[in-house]
Amino acid sequence: MNDHRSPSQPTSPFAIPLREGPRRDPAELLALPEEDEPGTLLALLGPDTSTRALRALVDRLRLQGLEVFVYELGDGLLVLPEARMSDLAAAEPGDLFERVIPCDTAWRLARRDLLPAGSQVEIGPVTFGGPRFGIIAGSCAVESRSQILETARLAAAAGADVLRAGAFKPRTSPYSFQGLGMRGVELLCEARRATGLPFVTEVMDPADVEPMYPMVDAFQVGARNMQNYALLAALADIDKPVLLKRGLSATLEEWLLAAEYLLAGGNPRVILCERGVRSFVPDTRFTLDLATMALAKRATHLPVIVDPSHATGDPNLILPMSLAALAAGADGLIVEFHPRPSEALSDGAQALLPEALERLVEQVSALAPALGREAGVRM
Ligand code: PEP
Ligand code: MN
Repeated sequence: MNDHRSPSQPTSPFAIPLREGPRRDPAELLALPEEDEPGTLLALLGPDTSTRALRALVDRLRLQGLEVFVYELGDGLLVLPEARMSDLAAAEPGDLFERVIPCDTAWRLARRDLLPAGSQVEIGPVTFGGPRFGIIAGSCAVESRSQILETARLAAAAGADVLRAGAFKPRTSPYSFQGLGMRGVELLCEARRATGLPFVTEVMDPADVEPMYPMVDAFQVGARNMQNYALLAALADIDKPVLLKRGLSATLEEWLLAAEYLLAGGNPRVILCERGVRSFVPDTRFTLDLATMALAKRATHLPVIVDPSHATGDPNLILPMSLAALAAGADGLIVEFHPRPSEALSDGAQALLPEALERLVEQVSALAPALGREAGVRM
């Protein structure tokens, strides 16, 4: 099972001190705190807990009149009663539990202290949240067959891990290019066949999840849809990764609660993406909030990546902000480039040239080892 007790991980600033280390005496594990207030308890059960023991525990808790939820988490099981420590101790002497954490945050399943070593999410063969600093690159939109094939080849040549491009585009103006829809997703599949790169693409309508499902490697939820709960519910029902962008004005709590809809609905494959927030600053398109990215890394076990393209809107700022994101502990990047930015049908003004993408991958790859990460050209 995953090492839930990695001593090298910082503890979450939101967590009460963890009961970590070797299994403790059950009496000590459930030792009653001085103030035994009712609240949500996160009780983590070991991977070898039998279904029968789990059922018996849940029955005992429900007989006490407590509300209980059970989730799978990593290789373990999480029982989530609304209870006091004393209620839990009465239902179970403690030897089923690996850890019990009184939950003091609105988000529950995303809490860092449940999986202190962090969770890892795969897009195709690339793992986010591990040692690799993953690079997702591509154009804002799929514009045509030749454009996306050329873009995919350039992304692969530059050393990117994953291709990005929107087939369904959320555009501020109804008069702007709206994307090619399902035809664009088909073209992305062709680009994957041609280059071997997996791809992530945005979904805006819950009704599109099912037809897109067999084709895509990962779904993107755009900033404007972070709180589209019908969309989150549809994506919670599937087993493909979801790149969840932070809303234009979302707090950390709102962002993590959006992730919680996916986790609680049954999809643990969530990657968060900081893409800049709206501020009073008119000089950059949005304001890249790396501090909240770093806070998110402490608050949740989910991988967190950074989008310096939409955050800054300025090709000149993408390299410095990418290096800053790596240094600040992000798990990867999603950047926009275009073979000919002046011809792009959307977001051309922020698109890197292909040579600039190559330089970015080179510089990120040079810095990564100093920070214990790896990035760039795959063997
Ligand atoms: C995009 O990635 O092209 C996009 C529209 O991003 P966001 O949702 O962050 O604005
Ligand atoms: Mn874009």
